[in-house]
Amino acid sequence: MDVFAPIIERKHEQVCFCYEESAGLRCIIAIHDTTLGPALGGVRIWNYATEEDAFMDALRLSKAMTYKAAVAGLGLGGGKAVILCDPKQKTEALMRAFGRFVDTLGGRYITAEDVNSSVEDMEYVLAETKHVCGIPVSRGGSGDPSPLTGFGVWHGIKATCEVAFGTNELNGVRVAVQGLGKVGFFLCKHLKADGAHVIGSDIDPERCEHAQKELGIELCGPQDIIEQDCDVLAPCALGGVINDKSLPKLRCKVVAGGANNQLAEERHGAALEERGILYAPDYVINAGGLINVYCEIDGYNQDRALRMCTTIRQSLKTVYQIAKAEKITTAEAAKRMAIRRIESIRKLRRLRKA
Ligand code: NAD
Repeated sequence: MDVFAPIIERKHEQVCFCYEESAGLRCIIAIHDTTLGPALGGVRIWNYATEEDAFMDALRLSKAMTYKAAVAGLGLGGGKAVILCDPKQKTEALMRAFGRFVDTLGGRYITAEDVNSSVEDMEYVLAETKHVCGIPVSRGGSGDPSPLTGFGVWHGIKATCEVAFGTNELNGVRVAVQGLGKVGFFLCKHLKADGAHVIGSDIDPERCEHAQKELGIELCGPQDIIEQDCDVLAPCALGGVINDKSLPKLRCKVVAGGANNQLAEERHGAALEERGILYAPDYVINAGGLINVYCEIDGYNQDRALRMCTTIRQSLKTVYQIAKAEKITTAEAAKRMAIRRIESIRKLRRLRKA
């Protein structure tokens, strides 16, 4: 295997392998691009089948963070860490050993929660480095980002409806929400308050019952949510939900939800467009969580975080304008928007140096 090729191909600035024997830490920290600011991205703890899988995941996820931060207009670059271990084996020592390595990067990389790492874990990391976000509210942090992610998705749905239907009024609009977990629940709350007709589903009956009791939403089976006759389908569960199997079944006009990696493959963005369905690129509409942790860097203030989340509306509108003007998919437009912002700031830096 040509070890460096995937790093060079994706233009990563720095990729570190960190090893600490006593805590059993094997970790990869990938810094993709710091043109706009320090590379921020969560730490994923996963029992990867192979070391190569972990390496490629770190590269892919950190690059995606660069685009996400750039489109959200933040002063952040993209980074990500992966710890190779069984999440059940997670210990204080493991998280602190990780924190020490984060510290050695001197702020070029800022960590936060991701799959299998929690707000409590970030408190362990904080014992070793100040370059960590997503710490508990009791420690001056922003805590769970899900309410802000749900809030941002709601704003994103409004912006997308404005483009698709000519109005951002959600009164009477039918929205099918897949996944009534943390993000899905908060999204449903805002949608209901706006007068939308919400149909929700979850594989967990307790979450269904909770959402129905608290918010009065209509429920349907997990198999049926994709095929709901609705205006907006809001995926808020797993990735890869827009795929060859689900596409022919869709009966929505808009796909706009909080889940990460909604398109199973890039080509599914074009397939949605061919069916006349407007797609809100996932990393643009679900940036609320990132915006929330970003606000921790200069001292957390929830009002500021909420205000910043409303900018998702404008980001999405710009994405749709680029897509229309350049005759490309919305997913491709988001990527171009990110790259253009990074390139313009990179140029500015060069000019300053000259
Ligand atoms: P969560 O675990 O609280 O909720 C996910 C819910 O989806 C669970 O209730 C689960 O039972 C349900 N689910 C799983 N498979 C399903 C299926 N086939 N049909 C219906 N429901 C199903 O997670 P979350 O924090 O709400 O995150 C949801 C999605 O949003 C994930 O893709 C996550 O990566 C993404 N996201 C979350 C945040 C955040 O701030 N939490 C930020 C950005 C992106």
